[in-house]
Amino acid sequence: MNRKQEGIKMNAHIGTKSVWAGEKEFRVFGGTQVPVIMSVAYDYQDVDEWYDVALGLKPGYTYNRMSNPTVKAFEEKIRMLEGAEAAIAFSSGMAAISASLHTFLKPGDRVVSVKDTYGGTNKIFTEFLPRMHVQSVLCNTEDYAELEAEIAKGCQVVYLESPTNPTLKITDIERLAKAAKAVGALVMVDNTFATPINQNPLKLGADLVIHSATKYLSGHADAMGGVVCGAAGLMEKVYHYREINGAALDPWAAYLIIRGIKTLHLRVRQQTQSAMAIARYLQQQPLIEAVNYPGLETHPHHDVAKRQMNGYGGILSVVLKGGMEAIKLMLHKLQYANRAGNLGAVETIYGPARTTSHVECTLEERQALGISEGLLRISVGIEDTEDLIADLAQALAHVEANLPVSTHNK
Ligand SMILES: *Cc1c(COP(=O)(O)O)cnc(C)c1O
Repeated sequence: MNRKQEGIKMNAHIGTKSVWAGEKEFRVFGGTQVPVIMSVAYDYQDVDEWYDVALGLKPGYTYNRMSNPTVKAFEEKIRMLEGAEAAIAFSSGMAAISASLHTFLKPGDRVVSVKDTYGGTNKIFTEFLPRMHVQSVLCNTEDYAELEAEIAKGCQVVYLESPTNPTLKITDIERLAKAAKAVGALVMVDNTFATPINQNPLKLGADLVIHSATKYLSGHADAMGGVVCGAAGLMEKVYHYREINGAALDPWAAYLIIRGIKTLHLRVRQQTQSAMAIARYLQQQPLIEAVNYPGLETHPHHDVAKRQMNGYGGILSVVLKGGMEAIKLMLHKLQYANRAGNLGAVETIYGPARTTSHVECTLEERQALGISEGLLRISVGIEDTEDLIADLAQALAHVEANLPVSTHNK
């Protein structure tokens, strides 16, 4: 463990930690930045030293699938931001999610989750876990009676995601963690949307907190990664799964993610502020049928969000009257927009659920999840709020002028 950084862990606020946490131990030659160590293996003074390092009796590195200094610096940083004992990095968010589930589930086990998890996660539950005879019970995200009844029947893992993608539903993590504890189940929370700036699931009773580092942590849409944080004993098991199954994070990606995290608090605060303003603006627009944003008082779980989050995040989704036709007209006209499948970057990103989070699902599956074809996810960037609203205004005017009247009030 990184003793030099204990002071930062104990005293500093989260923005200071974003900048400083986990770095000093890994610097070399007086450089002020963590270096990218592009070496798959390591050299030793003698065989005795090698042996000690390999057995973990001495600090050091053996092989990059096991550990790498740059990757370790990233793990230290996110560990401190989430207030965890340990963190293990992966090559992608899905690798982190799949490794977490496979580490703790075996044939005959039961996992309780919600229907609204990320599309890829949903596929693990419906396609891959059943193959190894793990029963996945996916409850209606807002139905606590169902969730608590299924948890009480006995399960090994309760898997949550809040806010959900792309519907922005909020789950009361503390409440379900209590239900999980009562049956001895581990609680895993995908914290990708909230980031450690806006939510700390470990404080709410979760055992494992998972991030797609590809999104807000990296923040610049140029690196893929994932990470799992939790108690040291649990992370040892996750580490063992990774060292054998192999979804290790590349050192270069780890460096980019470290660099991204240094501005995480600034980006997320700006994005959260803009998302709130955009949500309020869109609520007033006649072409918008619904706005999903947990910061709005009209959001069905606003009270829970207010209690468990420090901010409501940079993502909202809207349902456009006129469905996919309206989305096509609007996306074509937006100026400050990437029409892309990712989220959490410095640029504003627009994506219909049909082509992003739920591209793996059929139309019927999306309908069953309540995901309308007019649902558009907006990942708000760090641009000036006024410019983003003006851009939306001109794009909506274009839709209004060009949408066939017959589809207007659909
Ligand atoms: C993107 C995303 C994932 C998957 O992460 P990858 O890095 O793309 O593998 C998981 N959960 C959520 C909420 C996401 O947005």
